Amino acid sequence: MTRYIYFFGGGKADGNGKMKEVLGGKGAGLAEMTNAGIPVPPGFTISTEVCRLFYANRQKSPKWLDAECKKHLAHVEKLVGLRLGDAEAPLLVSVRSGARDSMPGMMDTILNLGLNDQTVLGLAKRTGNERFAWDSYRRFISMFASVVYDMEKKGFERKIEERKLIKGVKNDTGLGAADLKGLVGDFKALVREKAGKDFPQDPYIQLREARDAVFASWMNERAKTYRRIYAIPDHLGTACSVVAMVFGNMGEDSGTGVGFTRNPATGEKKFYGEYLSNAQGEDVVAGIRTPKQIDQLKDDQPAVYDQLREITSRLEKHYRDVQDFEFTIQQGTLYMLQTRNGKRTGHAAVRIACDMVREKLITPRDAVMRVLPDQLEQLLHPIFDATKRKEHPVIAKGLDASPGAAAGKVVFHADDAVAWTNRGDRVLLVRGETCPDDIHGMAAAKGVLTAIGGATSHATVVGRQMGKPTVVGCSAIKVDEVARLFRVGDRVVKEGDFLSIDGSTGEVMLGDVPTRASEVVQVLHGELKPEQSAGFQDFATLLTWADKYRRLKVRANADIPRDAEAAIAFGAQGIGLCRTEHMFFAEERLPIVVEMIMADTEAKRRAALDKLLPFQRNDFKGLFATMRGKPVTIRTLDPPLHEFLPKREELMVEIAVLKATNGDAGKLAEKEKILARVTELHEFNPMLGHRGCRLGITYPEITEMQARAIFEAAIDVAASGRPTEPEVMIPLVGNVKEFTHQKAIVVRVAEEVMAKAGRRLKYTVGTMIEVPRAAVTADRIAEEAEFFSFGTNDLTQMGSGFSRDDSGKFMGAYIDLKIYAKDVFQSLDVEGIGELIRIAVSRGRATKEHLKIGICGEHGGDPDSIAFCHRVGLDYVSCSPFRVPVARLAAARVAIADEDAGRKPAVPKAKKSARAKASANVPARRAKAGLRGRPVGARR
Ligand code: ADP
Ligand code: MG
Ligand code: MG
Repeated sequence: MTRYIYFFGGGKADGNGKMKEVLGGKGAGLAEMTNAGIPVPPGFTISTEVCRLFYANRQKSPKWLDAECKKHLAHVEKLVGLRLGDAEAPLLVSVRSGARDSMPGMMDTILNLGLNDQTVLGLAKRTGNERFAWDSYRRFISMFASVVYDMEKKGFERKIEERKLIKGVKNDTGLGAADLKGLVGDFKALVREKAGKDFPQDPYIQLREARDAVFASWMNERAKTYRRIYAIPDHLGTACSVVAMVFGNMGEDSGTGVGFTRNPATGEKKFYGEYLSNAQGEDVVAGIRTPKQIDQLKDDQPAVYDQLREITSRLEKHYRDVQDFEFTIQQGTLYMLQTRNGKRTGHAAVRIACDMVREKLITPRDAVMRVLPDQLEQLLHPIFDATKRKEHPVIAKGLDASPGAAAGKVVFHADDAVAWTNRGDRVLLVRGETCPDDIHGMAAAKGVLTAIGGATSHATVVGRQMGKPTVVGCSAIKVDEVARLFRVGDRVVKEGDFLSIDGSTGEVMLGDVPTRASEVVQVLHGELKPEQSAGFQDFATLLTWADKYRRLKVRANADIPRDAEAAIAFGAQGIGLCRTEHMFFAEERLPIVVEMIMADTEAKRRAALDKLLPFQRNDFKGLFATMRGKPVTIRTLDPPLHEFLPKREELMVEIAVLKATNGDAGKLAEKEKILARVTELHEFNPMLGHRGCRLGITYPEITEMQARAIFEAAIDVAASGRPTEPEVMIPLVGNVKEFTHQKAIVVRVAEEVMAKAGRRLKYTVGTMIEVPRAAVTADRIAEEAEFFSFGTNDLTQMGSGFSRDDSGKFMGAYIDLKIYAKDVFQSLDVEGIGELIRIAVSRGRATKEHLKIGICGEHGGDPDSIAFCHRVGLDYVSCSPFRVPVARLAAARVAIADEDAGRKPAVPKAKKSARAKASANVPARRAKAGLRGRPVGARR
């Protein structure tokens, strides 16, 4: 029989820490801590399976659930000697959400459940603390009403403000028992007015409604947004834990807090956290009051502090990861209420992973799995330029919650952050307090600044996880969200004004402070010595570990020696794509290129090409020399020729002006000639037009010149002792005959150049696979091509029929509707375009078992796409130099993950002679590769 409810208490638990899927992270943590003898109040966890039943049954819990809860509640009652609803000795509980993946503050929790007009009196009597009892009751009513009846918290807050005004006090703590009792009356009236019913007095009805509301909170907007950002599946559901209450609001020897075993912003190995005395948990995590630093607890309650240190370091050792924990102190007794692996910034992730390896807590392999590629990337993000920032006055300082530099226009609402960003603005989200409702705005903004809130509040935790530069608790700013401005002293900053925040120092500066390369990048560019940056050393160490585990090689897309230099610094093992046309755009060359395009005879074209040759040869020499023998893939000319000519509209304007002003006749004739050619070259669909190998086929002399430049350069560089193995790549091939045509030219020129130099070089000629027809005829193409490289931009464009340059107009809607999970030009559409790749790999390798295959599209730097490339057995990915570290890490992570899951890599094992294999029996190879249908030759 399936178990739906898991008990924990009295030192024993039905579940354990491994059961996150069933118990949610929170329930699993409570069970694990209970089993470890850590003081945790007793309770039970209703499994995620029940939540799924709830949704399967049109948002109703199964009928048997109430009785089951009652049975488990009886167990809790026995352990603590209190009973739910008992007028003399009432048990109070919290009803808490908690899913497999922690989603800080996105779902709901209700505290102090079980209070009503009777039990509040019993609680007051038992504890001898009337104020506490009424305080708990009013908290319960407002929490319950806002969660279960969806009432606004603001309404309740207003009532509190009114009471404080009447009483003439500033803080909640200034309100006495009688005031709080009065508040309870106010709150109940408010519920009647807004929810249209009385606040339920029956604790079992309270429990049922609270529990169902917790299940329902799985589907609230912010939880859905959060899951979308972090790709957490919607079907998992949340568990619901019912936990006996312990009270942090029973006086000055009570309190509540949140902490981390290490600093989650920087990774420093230092106890980190905040607490509030005489308060309940929500006060800290909701970020409503700015709390005290945890060190203060050492003075306030030394014994409790020591115990907390002991327990939490035990938890860190046990989980072998930073713990983010919640605790409550009830009259000097410590209780743990939650523990989970702490969310952290990229800087912290790298440092903690390396430190923990040094402490022998984890292995290098674990360390690689602990750092997400996106986190690593944060170390490459720019920081403020120290010299230029002096010109921008610091107007306020808050808590340095998440490091990094962010500058943008100030907005005060999450929806505005999204809207402004969509229209191309950089924005900073400024709020009075951090609030999980703002998650979409935080995701859109460059950084987040709040007046209230602590370094452990939910929203801060989320900001840190996103790697957003975040400054919180900046009490000097007075935010008026309605008027869309904030004040600091007598200065006013309005919506749309530029502001900069430094999440590493907590400083807030006026204006748009310029940024510069991060410390890691400075080292990579040789501007800083590695010894000067601990951050860089950890970064490099982690990547060295990653390199041990990855199978995929990582190359970079680079066209010029400077980029190639950067690529090598970032760890690239070669160049996967050199776009030769980029060399044509340089100033002194463009006129020659135009001359070539304008040529109306082959002879004239050749004359222009002869002038281009030395430039290209020099470019390649630089590239080969920089790459010191590492492979370099060079693509022959790819874009449609009109891209090199002036725009038609511009020409027409210039001609009109020349005519109107009686300008230079020679110039006019010249412009008219160009216009005529531009008109001739005009295409309705340039991306599907006269480009790629089609250029080299119609103008073979272009390919010829490029091949000559490549081989002459390679020979030159080889002569100076740095042998190179050029890989010449033909773009946009769809039909093997296109390829053979171009290959013949390349081979002929290569042989000529080598014969003339009296020196031989190894070289290969391969093709891009970017036209769907090439993917499905890859077996034929592989008979001729010596390597493949997937051009996934074009393959996606042609395979899905999406114009990359126009898809922005509808891709957003497609993603919202979940037609695609992500922009298919950023993250490979594995189901569709991935299938074309799978086909091409299997057919290509059916012909040549060890065919070298890579990817050089934009997707080569995207972690999910890299995982796919690993799994289909590609040899390498190639991405922009800046993405190389990310790719190295991503490639290692997928290799480890697959090994752990027992998945075998898709690469052929031993490397035999590829050419020998290529001449083997074709039908047999096709059968082996699992190819269906007619053999290629028999196609229509
Ligand atoms: P969240 O996921 O939003 O943090 P929690 O379920 O952890 O929600 O609860 C919110 C706050 O209430 C936390 O600070 C937690 O420690 C506190 N809390 C939860 N249950 C209890 C309890 N039984 N006794 C005292 N405080 C509690
Ligand atoms: Mg919590
Ligand atoms: Mg292309």
